[in-house]
Amino acid sequence: LIDARVDEFAAAESSDQGKPVWLAREMDIPRAALNFRFFASSILHQTDIASRLDLTTLSHVSHDPVGVAGLISPWNLPLYLLTWKIAPAIAYGNTCVAKPSELTSLTASLLCDVLNEAGVPAGVVNIVFGLGSTAGAALVAHPNVPLVSFTGGTVTGRAIAGVAAPMFKKLSLELGGKNPNIIFDDASLKHAVATTVRSSFLNQGEICLCGSRIYVQASVYEKFLESFSAKVRALKVGDPTKLDTFVGALVSREHLDKVYSFVDHARSEGAVIQAGGEKPALSGAHANGYFMEPTIITGLKSSSRVQQEEIFGPVVTVTPFETEDEAIELANGTRYGLSATVWTQGLRRSQSVSERLHAGTVWVNNWMSRDLRVPFGGVKESGVGREGQDGSREFFTEAKTICVRSL
Ligand code: NDP
Repeated sequence: LIDARVDEFAAAESSDQGKPVWLAREMDIPRAALNFRFFASSILHQTDIASRLDLTTLSHVSHDPVGVAGLISPWNLPLYLLTWKIAPAIAYGNTCVAKPSELTSLTASLLCDVLNEAGVPAGVVNIVFGLGSTAGAALVAHPNVPLVSFTGGTVTGRAIAGVAAPMFKKLSLELGGKNPNIIFDDASLKHAVATTVRSSFLNQGEICLCGSRIYVQASVYEKFLESFSAKVRALKVGDPTKLDTFVGALVSREHLDKVYSFVDHARSEGAVIQAGGEKPALSGAHANGYFMEPTIITGLKSSSRVQQEEIFGPVVTVTPFETEDEAIELANGTRYGLSATVWTQGLRRSQSVSERLHAGTVWVNNWMSRDLRVPFGGVKESGVGREGQDGSREFFTEAKTICVRSL
């Protein structure tokens, strides 16, 4: 049913969130449908373990639903992330109360129609519209909600953990990131540059997996920067309904101002703005929209706020490094640990660097390829828990051991 209404969903997601409509049509909405298909099929292929203690005693494990799942999702990938929670919650037999971000709740409203049309029984999926500080907080604190799956900012995640942990709720937190993108001198620069344009600026950089700190080995730094900057300056910013627009509008005035403030801060520290940094000159209906040129900053210390804090917009920093050890130290030098990208053609290096990076996911020579069967989540302040095939099953069920002795 989502597939059948893909154009309507994509137009709604784009007008609500600001992303190009082609991106919603190619990525967000198909992924929302895939989330349901994936968990609907995954539960058909799972087995439970059994273990024999001695000749007469056998234990086996059942995975039981937990109860009412509280699901809270952010504004950057609205339907994509909301359904990444609803689909496994109901696949494993729970009911749920889901709260999308009030900034981008249009596709969640369309999803209500689809769920009714699909015949989902009343009361199984309940979508509640309201602000995080009221509706979200009430959901987290409710004594009859034994598990909470939250995707959003680290500060909100900490507040939610503070309420949920003393109530012994199951808690999954997918939080912020400040992901490193490391480019070694033995990388295929052509592929590294092309993918780095996407990993920096897709969805206006409003993806938790965007690689916002780019580290380039000194011997190829100038070459990379020149080629990368040229491609970024050529990106079209503006009308999200146009098929050739790569960077649409940011989600809100407040967020736009916050992102610009990081650029101002970089300038005050003497950084060089290699591309962007300004409001694009747009006319007509988009003249006062929440647009920003994709921005590349160089010349910052790694201790700078701009290199340490999540910006979550179309802003990246580029920094040279000399050795593998230095690259790893820089990459691991923030409080976040969601994902990392490594560009190298060396097999040994790809393995050793991946092992030493503190991140929930490391992509080597690619970015954001998502196999839904493997664990997804962050380390350090990027989150707690893993979702994905087995991770979601673990989270959305309680494992019960049944030990039987034959007398
Ligand atoms: P927020 O943390 O502000 O909000 C996320 C959700 O939580 C929204 O639905 C919001 O509601 C709600 N909320 C806000 N306050 C509370 C509260 N006290 N109790 C319960 N719910 C609350 O994040 P953003 O929406 O700004 O999203 C951006 C963040 O999400 C970034 O940090 C990004 O990195 C992260 N993110 C992480 C991902 C991951 O997989 N690790 C994936 C995508 C994003 P409302 O907006 O209606 O007020």
